Amino acid sequence: MTQLKVGTGEALASTAHNSAAQYSISVSCNRCAGMHETGISITIENGPSHRQSIGDFYDGKSLPKTLSTIASDSFSCPLTGRQFIQKDTKRRFLVSSKGRSTIENDARKTRRGYGLG
Ligand SMILES: [Zn+2]
Repeated sequence: MTQLKVGTGEALASTAHNSAAQYSISVSCNRCAGMHETGISITIENGPSHRQSIGDFYDGKSLPKTLSTIASDSFSCPLTGRQFIQKDTKRRFLVSSKGRSTIENDARKTRRGYGLG
């Protein structure tokens, strides 16, 4: 049994470069053909500005350890409740966290607005 260590805190603290951005990893699901977030995040320098598959972004390059380990990880599909493993790097995606946090902020604002209403 291998234990996947996702040390987000330490990794983030050491990367203070402007060009580095945080990405979350989503995988294409074998069970429902949807896309699911793995909860794994990684900081990449000069990463894609929008969603790009890991296979495309690291074409011809070696994968960072964080990304290579998920090839053997199983994830549970929230729709079917079944486990799946995604070994195809073209079906694993880097998703920029920037765009996502904007959406979350909007949702929070909206909720607060209703409460005061
Ligand atoms: Zn699924």
